[in-house]
Amino acid sequence: MNARGFSLMSGGLDSQLAVKILQLAGAEVTGICFETPFFKAAAARKAASALGVELLVVDFTDDELALVENPPHGFGGSMNPCIDCHAAMIRRAGEMMKERGWDFVSTGEVMGQRPMSQNRQSLGIVERSSGLAGRLVRPLSARLLDPTIPETEGKLDRSKLLDIHGRSRERQIALAAEFGIVDYPSPAGGCKLTEEAYGRKLKDLKEHEGLGTRRLVELLAVGRHFRLPDGTGLIVGRDRADNGVLSGEAALGELLDSGDLPGPTALLIGGAKSDGDRELARRIVLSYTKGGGVEDRTFFASWHLC
Ligand code: SF4
Repeated sequence: MNARGFSLMSGGLDSQLAVKILQLAGAEVTGICFETPFFKAAAARKAASALGVELLVVDFTDDELALVENPPHGFGGSMNPCIDCHAAMIRRAGEMMKERGWDFVSTGEVMGQRPMSQNRQSLGIVERSSGLAGRLVRPLSARLLDPTIPETEGKLDRSKLLDIHGRSRERQIALAAEFGIVDYPSPAGGCKLTEEAYGRKLKDLKEHEGLGTRRLVELLAVGRHFRLPDGTGLIVGRDRADNGVLSGEAALGELLDSGDLPGPTALLIGGAKSDGDRELARRIVLSYTKGGGVEDRTFFASWHLC
């Protein structure tokens, strides 16, 4: 009998290779992708379709926000709670695996590839805290790790699993060529929580309005963001698309525009906290108008988050 399980798919090369290697080892694989405002499933959808496997996309926003609020193992280089996020995704996939009576959850992790989240200790933490001991398969590094239950039961051929270690991408790139995988995003890309500038905006939102309003989290991807001296959050549209989005958000605060001059729409989150903030917001908006930008923009540099 063959093993059956979920493979976490981001769309990156390692997650695609994990699927291929599992299939070679005799497994039936369904992809699973956890989507949030910080990580979209588009690349995973494309990869699953190219690999010809079914993909389940699961909304993971509430879980991710709870971790950004309070990550038990802390953040990576930015606002990315990778160890806990990874464990939580694996835990959720594990629950779904058990509901279906399947055998494993797999990931494209490579031992030693990332200093914080993919060393032996972190891989162990993820396995224990996800409650999936013995059922978590890392096909790319499996032969460096203890055999999992589907391997010992003979449902997954351990000899077909790999022993990749470290940061070099040579073996993965050679395997991609062998399997005809040509389309994959860069290994670091994809999750906004790892981006320094985005992390600055998210940290600011967490400290001021909090993370309880999902729409405010989604708006971090729209426009230029400011935190004004009396504490008002300001979002100024960068282009027509941003302006269109912000114009529909009157329920979240106070809208400003540039009057008769062609220029941005802006949202004062929750309304201006003082007349001073409102006046400053008006000057910032005017500085981005076409023909009305009479002021040197350095006047607002210290309140500009990104
Ligand atoms: S990169 Fe983003 S999605 Fe991936 S584990 Fe880290 S926080 Fe989670």
